[in-house]
Amino acid sequence: RAKQTGKGIACFFDAEMDAAVRTRRQIENDLRHAVVRRQLFLEYQPLVDVRDDRIVGYEALLRWRHPDRGLVGPNLFIPIAEESGSIIQIGEWVLEEACSEAVRWHEPLPVSVNVSPVQFLLPNLFDRIESILMRTGLEPRRLELEITEAALMHNRDDVLATLVRLRLLGVRIVMDDFGTGHSSLSNLQTFPFDKLKIDCSFTASLDKDPAAHAIIRAIIALGHSLNLPVVTEGVETERQRQIIVDEGCRHIQGFLTGRPGLAPSVDAASSSSTMPHRVGA
Ligand code: C2E
Ligand code: MG
Ligand code: MG
Ligand code: MG
Repeated sequence: RAKQTGKGIACFFDAEMDAAVRTRRQIENDLRHAVVRRQLFLEYQPLVDVRDDRIVGYEALLRWRHPDRGLVGPNLFIPIAEESGSIIQIGEWVLEEACSEAVRWHEPLPVSVNVSPVQFLLPNLFDRIESILMRTGLEPRRLELEITEAALMHNRDDVLATLVRLRLLGVRIVMDDFGTGHSSLSNLQTFPFDKLKIDCSFTASLDKDPAAHAIIRAIIALGHSLNLPVVTEGVETERQRQIIVDEGCRHIQGFLTGRPGLAPSVDAASSSSTMPHRVGA
């Protein structure tokens, strides 16, 4: 029902915008049922120590198998889930799923879970996470929560209190996508981080853009002087890896060392482990 008054282009845009709004509403609505209909699943991407190529942990990454749209990536649906509020239920599912999977891994490696800034608006995020750890039996030391700077913008005192309590429990806090958000270096002073992650976008432009190289170098140096391990994300090529290693970064996560894939679980029934100890093993 494009406007009766307009013709041509105006009508065309109205119709397109209509369609976009409808699609978005549809996705928003479908997301409400995604958990109950078991359409969500997690993939796990290895974090690798560059010194010996050993896997030192996995990041859980959310995927949505939509009945009509096929596989939908988090960059598309997480922002919609955050706006509509479904991220609360979805985020809870992710935590529970990742923790209960990790319990079954045959090596007690850490699992990293992304937590949305919206989840920090809950008054009882700490209790929810604590009870998920109790229910699943995952040692708190094995859980890492990845948060972005957006989570630190509002209710800073409450967020700080929550992070401090989580850390007392043994959970580790990772600053994800460092340097891409509304960064303030004082966040590193105020909030108790255990690790910094360098965003894919810096890594991607590493070869072409000297500024990206300079930023990566500065983040690695900053991390080291604050005693925070640094992970470089998005390493796709041997050349990028070499540059990052030369800059002193010890941990990488990227397609070069492992794409996100199915859970590294060991089926209790099978005797031989399928979990790779080393990249390419
Ligand atoms: P992120 O947490 O920074 O995750 C890293 C993203 O980089 C992942 O994209 C991963 O697949 C991608 N990546 C890893 N290595 C490479 C590489 O070598 N090259 C390239 N081009 N990309 C690489 P993905 O899985 O599409 O997730 C995108 C973002 O969606 C995540 O960024 C995170 O912010 C969000 N996300 C994913 N899962 C969840 C979740 O369970 N909850 C919340 N709240 N957000 C999530
Ligand atoms: Mg992450
Ligand atoms: Mg990241
Ligand atoms: Mg990201």
